[in-house]
This record gives sequence, structure tokens and C-alpha cells, in this order.
Amino acid sequence: MKVTSSDIVISAVKPEQYPKAPMPEFALAGRSNVGKSSFINKMINRKNLARTSSKPGKTQTLNFFIINNMLHFVDVPGYGYAKAPKTERDSWGKMIETYLSTREQLKAVIMIVDLRHAPSKDDVAMYEYFKHHDLPCVIVATKSDKIPKGKWQKHLKVVRETLQMDKSDELLLFSSETGQGKDQAWGVIKKFM
Ligand code: GDP
Repeated sequence: MKVTSSDIVISAVKPEQYPKAPMPEFALAGRSNVGKSSFINKMINRKNLARTSSKPGKTQTLNFFIINNMLHFVDVPGYGYAKAPKTERDSWGKMIETYLSTREQLKAVIMIVDLRHAPSKDDVAMYEYFKHHDLPCVIVATKSDKIPKGKWQKHLKVVRETLQMDKSDELLLFSSETGQGKDQAWGVIKKFM
């Protein structure tokens, strides 16, 4: 898809703040520092619209982006702060739970993992959580530029098996450095619209 416009609509913490426009929506999830903001920016051809996810202690918000006046990306705050205070993890959990269980136009979750490493316990827990909510998932294994081409399939297999991915969910190679996988990712997103 050719992206001709993109903007941030709102940083929301509660449902009353979610955009009212009933366009198809895709939630972007991933542990902190995995490359989620870079993925969003690459997909929409922007250098810095999506910012590096906020660190513990900062306000955690759902950031809604509108793309081509046609769909929303929702940047979900990064998970996996083992060291974050419990109160913060609880409020993160509540905000995500409310969003995932009530948002009717949510078509799929795009979950970003690092191609270099087997998905972490947090990744596995998140994937199970999305499946528990019956949400289709697209797994994007990013930073492919850091792995030699000859090893991509081996690493993809580790991702697929560690997450125990549903057969119906897609797994894509991606690189925000080279743009690899961008067209394919848009192709998958379009199928959900
Ligand atoms: P976020 O916290 O998940 O939003 O992660 P960021 O998008 O801020 O990326 C974290 C770090 O990984 C930054 O230093 C990025 O430059 C780097 N990074 C992200 N994606 C890629 C990629 O595809 N390839 C490489 N080589 N580095 C990446």
C-alpha cells in the first residue's frame, strides 16, 4: 500500500478517548526496545512519528495513528518490564485488557519479535493472551538485517515453535533498516480490511 498520509490522532488511556471513526484497526505489540516504533515509522514512511516506547515511570498510553484516512495503527506500550513497579504493570494490564476486549473494529494484532532471539517468556505470554481473546495475529520478526540470509529460515522456525503459533497466523521477516518485508506486511494487513 502506498501511504500518502499519516498522523497521530490521540494518546488514549480510556475508552472514551478512543477515536470514534469506525475504520479497521491494527494493534502493534512488542516488548520494549524490540523495534516496534521503527516498524511503524517504516510502514508509514515517517522518520519519527512513532516514538521509542516510553520507559517505566512514564505515562503509558495507547497511541492511535490514522493512515491514508483509512485505517488505524494503535501503538500499545511495550511490555516486559520485569522491574517496573507492580502498580504500573497492573494499570498497563487493565488498559490493554479493556482495549482488546471492547474494541470492535480491531482486526488483528501485529506482534513484533526479534528475529535474532527465541521469543521471551513475555512474548509467549502475550501471544497466548491475544489468542485467548480470539484475535488474529501477524508475527513480525524484525531486525532481519542482523542475521545472515542463510539462517533466516532456522530463526523463523524457532519463533514459530516457541510461540506455538496458530497455523492461521502469518509470520513475516522484516527489517526497518532495509525495508525488507514492508510490502508483504501491507499485503497481509490489506487482507484483514
Ligand atoms: P521500540 O522500543 O520497540 O519502539 O524499539 P525502537 O523502534 O525504538 O528500536 C529499538 C532499537 O533497535 C533502536 O536502536 C533501533 O534503531 C533498533 N532497530 C529497530 N529496528 C531495527 C531493524 O530492523 N534493524 C536494526 N539493525 N536495528 C533496528
